[in-house]
Amino acid sequence: MADNSNTFKDRDGGADEKPTYDTSLYVDVSDSQWPIVYGPEYNIGFLGLEKLHPFDAGKWGKVYQFLKDAKMIHDNTVVKPQEASESDLLRVHSKEYIRSLKYSLTVASITEVPPVALLPNMIVQWKVLKPMRYQTGGTILAAKLAMERGWGINIGGGFHHCSADRGGGFCAYADITLAIKFLMSNNSSVTKAMIVDLDAHQGNGHERDFMEDDSVYIMDVYNRGIYPHDGFAKRAIRKKVELSHHTEDNEYLKLVERNLKESLNEFHPNVIVYNAGTDILDGDPLGRLSVTAKGIIARDEIVFKIARSKNIPIFMVTSGGYQRSTARIIADSVLNLKSKNLIGCPEAERIPAPEGSLSRRSFFGSRR
Ligand SMILES: [Zn+2]
Repeated sequence: MADNSNTFKDRDGGADEKPTYDTSLYVDVSDSQWPIVYGPEYNIGFLGLEKLHPFDAGKWGKVYQFLKDAKMIHDNTVVKPQEASESDLLRVHSKEYIRSLKYSLTVASITEVPPVALLPNMIVQWKVLKPMRYQTGGTILAAKLAMERGWGINIGGGFHHCSADRGGGFCAYADITLAIKFLMSNNSSVTKAMIVDLDAHQGNGHERDFMEDDSVYIMDVYNRGIYPHDGFAKRAIRKKVELSHHTEDNEYLKLVERNLKESLNEFHPNVIVYNAGTDILDGDPLGRLSVTAKGIIARDEIVFKIARSKNIPIFMVTSGGYQRSTARIIADSVLNLKSKNLIGCPEAERIPAPEGSLSRRSFFGSRR
């Protein structure tokens, strides 16, 4: 009988049996779809409260729209994620933590939007946490796609401040930890993973989660002078690059390239998780670095080039960076990866875009 409950199978099995985690997040994806994951559910709304946060709450939808406008992708060739269920989340999170999100006050402190505390939790669940659960489902799916296609991109996700039992810094679910744990449970070819965290902030969430875990190598390049200053979590970083305020392109790109190459000489992962935060952008009020748009595009190219040349599957999540110009830069970077042949999907490019919005006929007729 089909078992739709998300439980560990073989939990009590022999020591060398890998547990397989049953989940509806691992949907089948056809060759005529890009391994790029996005759903309109990603976009967060705070009933206008987002104006209180330095934040473009619609960035994910804009990235997707720019990729559509560039005729790279459309509604029939993008991969739509499922929402991470409570039992999916419990693969990493504690019951107590998930329960704590039922209090708007907790969510207000995680999102750093104090008035969220005054909203009924039903609204908070619907407007804030549900989008984050979809993005989390997207990261977990992008990881699976990377193993099938060599690469994957989730247009959202990258909640790198959240660990199993603590949210913070606008991150309510530990999507990076979850994606790695799911892969290691469900894909026998994945025993070692590398996290390359290039968001401007230290990725203390996944660092706390993999503190004692030699199978996950963490490289983190971040501004030492900003949130979260998590000295305990820093102990989990195997390749640490601390930057000062206003670091510019030249220095930044050299550091990224040299340290990534060194990391891959020290450790041979079966998969790379690339946390591609864009809050390194000059003028970002939180990141306080001075990397240009061109610098961000060059950075993503360096990371993909190195991973692809070594045939290591890589999946990217977009993480922090919420200036008005950010969505355009992320889309330009994805288009650049395509133009440099670092990503591609010839089957998808043969599928014509639907007239107007998604039509049922083309949706079902797209598979050859
Ligand atoms: Zn950040």
